[in-house]
Amino acid sequence: MTWSRGNMADGEEPEKKRRRVEELAEKMAVDSGHGGNARDWDGRWNHVQKFLERPGPFTHPDFEPSTESLHFLLETCKILVIGAGGLGCELLKNLALTGFRQIHVIDMDTIDVSNLNRQFLFRSKDVGRPKADVAADFINRRIPGCNVVPYFKKIQDFDESFYRQFHIIVCGLDSIIARRWMNGMLMSLLIYEDGVLDPSSIIPLIDGGTEGFKGNARVILPGMTACIDCTLELYPPQINFPMCTIASMPRLPEHCIEYVRVLQWPKEKPFGEDVPLDGDNPEHIKWVFQKSQERASEFNITGVTYRLTQGVVKRIIPAVASTNAVIAAACATEVFKIASSAYVPLNNYLVFNDVDGLYTYTFEAERKENCTACSQVPQDLKFAPSATLQDILEYLTENASLQMKSPAITATIDGKNRTLYLQTVASIEERTRPNLCKTLKELGLTDGQELAVADVTTPQTMLFKLHFTS
Ligand SMILES: [Zn+2]
Repeated sequence: MTWSRGNMADGEEPEKKRRRVEELAEKMAVDSGHGGNARDWDGRWNHVQKFLERPGPFTHPDFEPSTESLHFLLETCKILVIGAGGLGCELLKNLALTGFRQIHVIDMDTIDVSNLNRQFLFRSKDVGRPKADVAADFINRRIPGCNVVPYFKKIQDFDESFYRQFHIIVCGLDSIIARRWMNGMLMSLLIYEDGVLDPSSIIPLIDGGTEGFKGNARVILPGMTACIDCTLELYPPQINFPMCTIASMPRLPEHCIEYVRVLQWPKEKPFGEDVPLDGDNPEHIKWVFQKSQERASEFNITGVTYRLTQGVVKRIIPAVASTNAVIAAACATEVFKIASSAYVPLNNYLVFNDVDGLYTYTFEAERKENCTACSQVPQDLKFAPSATLQDILEYLTENASLQMKSPAITATIDGKNRTLYLQTVASIEERTRPNLCKTLKELGLTDGQELAVADVTTPQTMLFKLHFTS
């Protein structure tokens, strides 16, 4: 271990050393001597030009080498990166060094001290600041000519006209819900004329995902290739507990924690009005933990611990820097291939695993004929009139190809638009909860009835057609 000993030997305090290295890095950025504007020095894009200006055995069959591709890449091509975390930092760095200059980045998070081991665009002085802002500043300062535009916002804060401006969208997210929402948004941008898809309305989505030592990268051409929802079965089932169980007959410690999280927190507002439960706030977790214990003892349930409470509230996903690096590299390569048309893109799903040795392979995920997100086929719900609304709710959340999170169900009954169940607003949840135990018939639903379902997994309301079975 000569490396670490060598580092120790200079006797410098770690904090002091870190600062010195940072100062040096900043100085290098300034000293790269190109004034931070779009001036390109000789040979700057040699590495990219090799790929764009000559043919080769792996180039796309229709590819024509030219000097114009580089110009498009540098000046015109507009990329949206979603997420400025572990994958996002890698993506921004890779894309900027590849030559992309019109990069926008959305992230709703601020920097936490635990991010600093792998989210290398952030320093300890940045803790508490928005990830998107700091990441954009770093890249713009360090890479002359690059123009990263940050948004400290949620993806849901933007509408179709915002997303339509991009040539390619890359996702580096740790949330399946956000991914599905983004997928749904790109589907809503598609234009069909007489049932034929207008190719100019397609915005390719490159999606990277990592969990510990496993990762995947995929290329989605909305309306043409398998989308996120087509392959929902590939994701681990989300831990979801039926509301009836949580509210009235808990059996597991997790049920008690969910009860406090979903029902008691919004009702009691222990930290004031409009203070959402924050999984990183020890005071919040402690409150949920104690209330969960109380509820558990009421039902003679054991096993509620602080750790379990945090696990249920936060769904902790381990992060490994090297996995992020590999997956982001694969994603950035796909962006380059699609933007330049020089190479055949990944078709369409790459799996990476280095839990034990190293394993990777690629397969073609197939479109699902009746995909809720991309198929344009109306969805049928088959239930007996004696089934309850709870049965439908469970179907929507537990069916492997739907996996909704907190569906809100509305229907037009006797000419009136009625909310049958809505979970996300505490007062409406309480008011509509009795409906869950009612049968479809009792609710006044009829055969062929349309149900409108809204969920956080998509920006669009989904229509289902109810078919009564006997
Ligand atoms: Zn699909």
